[in-house]
Amino acid sequence: MNIKLNTDEHFKKSNISKIKSFRKRNPSTSALISGIADGDIAALSRAITLIESSNENHRSQAQEIIDHCLPLSGQSVRIGITGVPGVGKSTFIEAFGSTLTKLGKKVAVLAIDPTSTISKGSILGDKTRMQELVRDPNAFIRPSPAGSSLGGVTRKTRESIVLCEAAGYDIILVETVGVGQSETAVHGMVDFFLLLKLAGAGDELQGIKRGIMEMADLIVINKADGENLKQAKQAKVEFSRALHLYPPKKNGWITKVLSCSATEHTGISEIWEQIKIYVADNKRKGTFQENRKEQNKYWLLQTIDDLLKQEFYQDKKIRAHLEDMTQEVVQGKLSPFAAAERLMVLFKEK
Ligand code: GDP
Repeated sequence: MNIKLNTDEHFKKSNISKIKSFRKRNPSTSALISGIADGDIAALSRAITLIESSNENHRSQAQEIIDHCLPLSGQSVRIGITGVPGVGKSTFIEAFGSTLTKLGKKVAVLAIDPTSTISKGSILGDKTRMQELVRDPNAFIRPSPAGSSLGGVTRKTRESIVLCEAAGYDIILVETVGVGQSETAVHGMVDFFLLLKLAGAGDELQGIKRGIMEMADLIVINKADGENLKQAKQAKVEFSRALHLYPPKKNGWITKVLSCSATEHTGISEIWEQIKIYVADNKRKGTFQENRKEQNKYWLLQTIDDLLKQEFYQDKKIRAHLEDMTQEVVQGKLSPFAAAERLMVLFKEK
């Protein structure tokens, strides 16, 4: 008994000192890499902070960590979750995430919210929304990074996926706000895309962005409980009918419609069953890996795009002349094309 207590005490102490050392201002790159490989949450958090930093030194340290983590990554199932605000995304992630950790999975929850720069973290920022999962030792929750562009925010989340996988998380959930372009970005970094919907007031199909319906691998009608239950069943039929009008997916998958109640935890296991079938099916056909390769190609080009733009707008000469040229264009003294050409020449001048 005494021995056990001592061992526990020792473990507690050594863990506390480890966490403290990762919180130090500048833990070494190799300490962070081995910490991540050991599944240490403090090391993982610290490394993600480096990814999110705009400091050059932090960025290059982050890059080295990502390079070392890459060979350890790729083993998870990456699931994107979208839906309009209020549909129940955080409640669903809490229910779904806990179901998965009970099955012995390690779950990381990341987010992409391009609006968070303005609203200071509108999703996942408030951790009280996932109280159970926050306390779960097998779950890791990270709010959306802030950033000036969707591209920047997206890249940071994508890099964080690599680190989470290297830290042993088998399921990565990426939440997005359900407005604007962020769905496309998330769709481009996950294996499975889940669209949460509500049974509306009679007209279920109104207001659905066709593109998002097409991206979904599964549509789930949430809040199928209480008085809503009947409506949810009806919505399920209507959505299924609407999906028939869409062309089949490239991988042959036929998108299904399920319903659940995130608050009552009903229908959650069925969703996981669907995802497992999807993953097994696509791995067998080779389309799972093919999709990831395509996504890597896409991200390579996308990142080049972002980096070039960033370099261009941060260039001293560009910063000195962009405003004047813009004025000339606005006043009709210079065509936008000529102005762009001149700026490019300035940019390329050494
Ligand atoms: P989000 O904005 O999409 O993240 O939505 P939230 O998870 O914050 O949920 C919005 C509201 O809907 C909250 O008041 C939740 O309690 C409620 N809610 C979420 N899921 C369910 C559900 O399955 N059934 C019912 N009745 N309410 C739900």
